[in-house]
Amino acid sequence: MRVRNVRLIDGVSAQAVQDAVLECGDDGRITYAGPAARAPEPRPGVRTIDGQGGTLLPGLFDCHTHLGVPSDRSLVEAALLTDPVLGVLQTTERMKRTLDAGVTSARDLGGLPAGFRDAVAAGLVPGPRLQTSVGVLSHTGGHADGTLPGGKSLDLDYCEIADDVPGVRKAARRMLRAGADLVKICTSGGISSAHDDPDDQDLLDEEIAAVVDEARRHRGRPVAAHAQGRAGVLAAIRGGVRSVEHGFGIDDEGCDLLGERGAFLVPTLSTVFQPLDPRKTTPWRYQKKLRWNERAKENIAAAIARGVDIAAGTDAGISPHGGNLSELSYLVELGMSPMAAIRAATSASARLLGVEDTLGTLRAGYAADLVLCAGDPLRDIGLLSAPEQIVLVAQQGVVRKLTLPERSGSCQT
Ligand SMILES: [Zn+2]
Repeated sequence: MRVRNVRLIDGVSAQAVQDAVLECGDDGRITYAGPAARAPEPRPGVRTIDGQGGTLLPGLFDCHTHLGVPSDRSLVEAALLTDPVLGVLQTTERMKRTLDAGVTSARDLGGLPAGFRDAVAAGLVPGPRLQTSVGVLSHTGGHADGTLPGGKSLDLDYCEIADDVPGVRKAARRMLRAGADLVKICTSGGISSAHDDPDDQDLLDEEIAAVVDEARRHRGRPVAAHAQGRAGVLAAIRGGVRSVEHGFGIDDEGCDLLGERGAFLVPTLSTVFQPLDPRKTTPWRYQKKLRWNERAKENIAAAIARGVDIAAGTDAGISPHGGNLSELSYLVELGMSPMAAIRAATSASARLLGVEDTLGTLRAGYAADLVLCAGDPLRDIGLLSAPEQIVLVAQQGVVRKLTLPERSGSCQT
């Protein structure tokens, strides 16, 4: 495949290349990405796509999804009132919608069985390349405890509850047995959980350390922590997690500690900026969200200004599926440059997922996972939010979505 007549953002450079060409070989690896003036002659018969002056970017990442969780109805309805076969098919539809939005890689942090990852890898269903935690671990009454206020439990099979060091080790082992690429824990309470508050610490320090050790023993797998309030954020970083999810209460101490430990912040601003309809949620959740939204914006803006490593993630499932790249607009709204937001969703996310040698960058030798956006997102980052502006999506050089005309065997560069 050869893409010509595009502006190239490679995911690492500070500047875009105007009038660029990208070509990849039959193995789906990039052979050239750079100025048209220096591009090699097209291979004979190569499939050529005229990018019509749009912007070519590395395939984007969403480092915090819940593809198994619908965003348009309640957890109660999804868990108790949905036929399981329909549930699987709805998940595959969300995966396709996410890919069409320009997300070629995703890290799922709860509710997505490993079979979906394997199905994408085997080419059975279209979707982002996936890493999945499968489950979420908290203590009794914590963020993953689906016990309803009436006393009945939702009994979500991906929610693990444990309350001491041997218990959390065993829970981590169950998740790893289920095929998890990483372990997801809760080190703070949550806005959407019934029995706790974001300022509460969830797992204790020694429990966090035990899970981190358990994951490390299993081929060095990382741990991601749901951590909203300051106490949970600090406990997570000190305990050795790879990423702080949400981090709404992060302060300067947390930012600096994050830098020292080489950990990432995934601020999931889509949940912060997304309006919540008070008629469609419980009064306690609505009140918690109101209390936390402004704090979150202030603290995340300060973290951006302090230069912490940020990877892009939306919490899709809580926020809407298929509008994932709105997250970049929110990062820009809180002070990032458009180019920095694009790097957060490409090369920085690839580093968080440990795939930076093959993905997240458009340079020779990398996999041709790419997205073409009509227009220039450096001038208007909001263009990426609209799936109809994403006119080409490819993974490993295979076109997954194309809404532009093309020609075969063109001799033009
Ligand atoms: Zn989440």
